[in-house]
Amino acid sequence: MMKVRRVSSLAPRQTKILREILYRNCIEWIEIAESWEGESWELHFPSVSAEALRGIEYNIHDFQNEKRERGAIVKRALFLDRDGVINVDHGYVSREEDFEFVEGILDFIKEAQERNYFPIVVTNQSGIGRGFYSEEDFERLTAHMLEAMRQYGIAIDRSRIFHCPHAPEERCDCRKPAPGMFLQARERFGIDMENSLMIGDKESDIEAAREAGVGHLYRIGKNEPIDTKILER
Ligand SMILES: [Mg+2]
Repeated sequence: MMKVRRVSSLAPRQTKILREILYRNCIEWIEIAESWEGESWELHFPSVSAEALRGIEYNIHDFQNEKRERGAIVKRALFLDRDGVINVDHGYVSREEDFEFVEGILDFIKEAQERNYFPIVVTNQSGIGRGFYSEEDFERLTAHMLEAMRQYGIAIDRSRIFHCPHAPEERCDCRKPAPGMFLQARERFGIDMENSLMIGDKESDIEAAREAGVGHLYRIGKNEPIDTKILER
């Protein structure tokens, strides 16, 4: 367990909100052990790298400055398709050696995070259902992607990656253009869909997001850098 940060002088109402921020940011991998020392809080995070905590510290800082309205924690997501948006789409990418970040994507996600977007990945992985690669291959590649992101200063973990492993004929409700993965993300993190943003390179990405109620939709060209201007609103 690692002690990361002390936040001082929080009133009980503030601690409640802080806990919620932490919970929403770290669901699944965090346990907070807190102890009172006068009016100070000590936050303990097990098995979490300092890089992974940067976004959370940002939120705490934001919160301390009372920028947020009382009780109103609005989380707007940056939903990203994976193949063709995050990594170059070579067709059924499943190995580290074929995983190549699209130019500028890490800077884009970082910029989004600084603008208080919460990055979430929603990816169709029918290669699993079609038997081209396994869930384990997908997990291995995901761990590789997340590690590269964290080293770049992006606060993200496995709980923010939603994948659909099904082949089209399985008729699941998660394969885009179905909205299932977006709805799961909304449920898990309490996302404000109307103020969220989806970026995809296929019409099915856009359709799925629209169906789920995502308010801002951008279709980009496959493997093309994204203009950070779309974050300025
Ligand atoms: Mg794609």
